Amino acid sequence: MSGVDARAVPWRDRDVVTVCGTSLAGLALIVTAWFGASATVSTARQAAWLNLGAAGFAVGAGGLCLWLLRARRALGERRVALIALAPADDDEDTRPRPTRRTRSTDDTLALPLVRAEGMDRPHQPDCPLVAGKEVTPAPVGAGEPCGVCAP
Ligand SMILES: [Zn+2]
Repeated sequence: MSGVDARAVPWRDRDVVTVCGTSLAGLALIVTAWFGASATVSTARQAAWLNLGAAGFAVGAGGLCLWLLRARRALGERRVALIALAPADDDEDTRPRPTRRTRSTDDTLALPLVRAEGMDRPHQPDCPLVAGKEVTPAPVGAGEPCGVCAP
Protein backbone atom coordinates (compact mmCIF):
# COMPACT_ATOMS: atom_id res chain seq x y z
CA MET A 1 0.00 0.00 0.00
CA SER A 2 3.00 2.30 -0.03
CA GLY A 3 2.73 4.98 -2.67
CA VAL A 4 -1.00 5.26 -2.04
CA ASP A 5 -2.44 8.37 -0.45
CA ALA A 6 -2.59 7.67 3.29
CA ARG A 7 -6.04 9.23 3.49
CA ALA A 8 -7.41 6.91 0.80
CA VAL A 9 -7.01 3.75 2.87
CA PRO A 10 -8.22 3.38 6.44
CA TRP A 11 -5.10 1.57 7.68
CA ARG A 12 -1.41 1.44 7.01
CA ASP A 13 0.91 -1.45 6.20
CA ARG A 14 1.95 -1.59 9.84
CA ASP A 15 -1.67 -2.10 10.89
CA VAL A 16 -2.14 -4.99 8.45
CA VAL A 17 1.05 -6.64 9.71
CA THR A 18 -0.12 -6.18 13.31
CA VAL A 19 -3.53 -7.73 12.73
CA CYS A 20 -2.12 -10.64 10.73
CA GLY A 21 0.67 -11.26 13.25
CA THR A 22 -1.55 -11.20 16.29
CA SER A 23 -4.19 -13.33 14.61
CA LEU A 24 -1.64 -15.95 13.59
CA ALA A 25 -0.01 -15.91 17.03
CA GLY A 26 -3.38 -16.26 18.72
CA LEU A 27 -4.38 -19.07 16.40
CA ALA A 28 -1.07 -20.84 17.01
CA LEU A 29 -1.59 -20.62 20.77
CA ILE A 30 -5.13 -21.97 20.47
CA VAL A 31 -4.05 -24.89 18.26
CA THR A 32 -1.14 -25.65 20.60
CA ALA A 33 -3.51 -25.61 23.57
CA TRP A 34 -5.92 -27.87 21.72
CA PHE A 35 -3.23 -30.46 20.93
CA GLY A 36 -1.78 -30.18 24.44
CA ALA A 37 -5.14 -30.63 26.12
CA SER A 38 -6.09 -33.54 23.89
CA ALA A 39 -2.94 -35.43 24.83
CA THR A 40 -3.58 -35.39 28.56
CA VAL A 41 -6.24 -36.96 30.76
CA SER A 42 -5.60 -34.91 33.90
CA THR A 43 -8.11 -32.13 34.34
CA ALA A 44 -5.50 -29.99 36.12
CA ARG A 45 -3.20 -30.20 33.09
CA GLN A 46 -6.12 -29.62 30.75
CA ALA A 47 -6.94 -26.48 32.73
CA ALA A 48 -3.40 -25.23 32.13
CA TRP A 49 -3.80 -25.83 28.40
CA LEU A 50 -7.17 -24.11 28.56
CA ASN A 51 -5.44 -21.07 30.04
CA LEU A 52 -3.03 -21.10 27.12
CA GLY A 53 -5.97 -21.26 24.69
CA ALA A 54 -7.65 -18.36 26.44
CA ALA A 55 -4.42 -16.38 26.19
CA GLY A 56 -4.32 -17.16 22.47
CA PHE A 57 -7.86 -15.90 22.10
CA ALA A 58 -6.93 -12.72 23.98
CA VAL A 59 -3.92 -12.11 21.72
CA GLY A 60 -5.97 -12.58 18.54
CA ALA A 61 -8.88 -10.49 19.80
CA GLY A 62 -6.54 -7.75 20.98
CA GLY A 63 -4.97 -7.50 17.54
CA LEU A 64 -8.37 -7.31 15.88
CA CYS A 65 -9.48 -4.61 18.34
CA LEU A 66 -6.37 -2.56 17.57
CA TRP A 67 -7.11 -2.91 13.86
CA LEU A 68 -10.71 -1.79 14.29
CA LEU A 69 -9.68 1.13 16.48
CA ARG A 70 -7.17 2.24 13.84
CA ALA A 71 -9.86 2.08 11.16
CA ARG A 72 -12.25 4.03 13.37
CA ARG A 73 -9.62 6.68 14.02
CA ALA A 74 -8.89 6.98 10.29
CA LEU A 75 -12.58 7.40 9.53
CA GLY A 76 -12.84 10.08 12.20
CA GLU A 77 -9.87 11.93 10.73
CA ARG A 78 -11.44 11.80 7.27
CA ARG A 79 -14.74 13.04 8.70
CA VAL A 80 -13.02 15.97 10.43
CA ALA A 81 -11.15 16.81 7.22
CA LEU A 82 -14.41 16.80 5.29
CA ILE A 83 -16.18 18.97 7.85
CA ALA A 84 -13.23 21.39 7.84
CA LEU A 85 -13.87 21.98 4.14
CA ALA A 86 -17.45 23.03 4.84
CA PRO A 87 -18.18 26.65 5.71
CA ALA A 88 -18.31 27.17 9.45
CA ASP A 89 -21.61 28.21 10.98
CA ASP A 90 -19.99 30.58 13.49
CA ASP A 91 -18.72 32.79 10.67
CA GLU A 92 -22.30 33.53 9.82
CA ASP A 93 -22.48 36.75 11.81
CA THR A 94 -19.15 38.24 10.78
CA ARG A 95 -19.11 37.60 7.07
CA PRO A 96 -21.66 38.78 4.59
CA ARG A 97 -23.77 35.81 3.76
CA PRO A 98 -24.00 34.99 0.09
CA THR A 99 -27.41 35.42 -1.35
CA ARG A 100 -29.42 32.28 -1.78
CA ARG A 101 -29.83 31.29 -5.35
CA THR A 102 -33.38 31.53 -6.45
CA ARG A 103 -35.19 31.60 -9.68
CA SER A 104 -34.85 35.16 -10.76
CA THR A 105 -34.91 37.19 -13.86
CA ASP A 106 -31.42 38.60 -13.28
CA ASP A 107 -29.18 38.86 -16.26
CA THR A 108 -26.35 37.28 -14.34
CA LEU A 109 -26.14 33.55 -14.46
CA ALA A 110 -25.38 31.71 -11.29
CA LEU A 111 -23.18 28.65 -11.49
CA PRO A 112 -25.47 25.72 -12.06
CA LEU A 113 -25.73 23.11 -9.41
CA VAL A 114 -24.29 19.78 -10.38
CA ARG A 115 -25.04 16.22 -9.49
CA ALA A 116 -22.94 13.08 -9.82
CA GLU A 117 -24.32 9.70 -10.72
CA GLY A 118 -26.37 8.25 -7.86
CA MET A 119 -26.58 11.50 -5.85
CA ASP A 120 -29.94 12.75 -4.66
CA ARG A 121 -28.94 16.30 -3.78
CA PRO A 122 -27.47 18.91 -6.12
CA HIS A 123 -24.10 20.41 -5.16
CA GLN A 124 -22.07 23.50 -5.94
CA PRO A 125 -19.42 22.68 -8.57
CA ASP A 126 -16.66 23.23 -6.00
CA CYS A 127 -18.25 21.09 -3.29
CA PRO A 128 -15.82 18.55 -1.80
CA LEU A 129 -18.48 15.87 -2.05
CA VAL A 130 -18.36 15.97 -5.85
CA ALA A 131 -14.62 16.61 -6.16
CA GLY A 132 -13.11 14.21 -8.64
CA LYS A 133 -16.44 12.83 -9.76
CA GLU A 134 -18.02 13.08 -13.15
CA VAL A 135 -20.89 15.53 -12.72
CA THR A 136 -23.76 16.73 -14.82
CA PRO A 137 -25.73 19.96 -14.38
CA ALA A 138 -28.71 19.48 -12.12
CA PRO A 139 -32.05 20.92 -13.19
CA VAL A 140 -33.17 24.01 -11.30
CA GLY A 141 -35.20 23.09 -8.25
CA ALA A 142 -34.16 19.47 -8.45
CA GLY A 143 -34.18 18.29 -4.87
CA GLU A 144 -32.98 19.74 -1.63
CA PRO A 145 -29.51 21.30 -1.97
CA CYS A 146 -26.47 19.77 -0.32
CA GLY A 147 -26.03 20.61 3.36
CA VAL A 148 -22.25 21.00 3.01
CA CYS A 149 -21.99 23.43 0.12
CA ALA A 150 -25.38 25.13 0.09
CA PRO A 151 -25.25 28.83 0.96
ZN1 LIG B 1 -22.30 19.70 -1.70
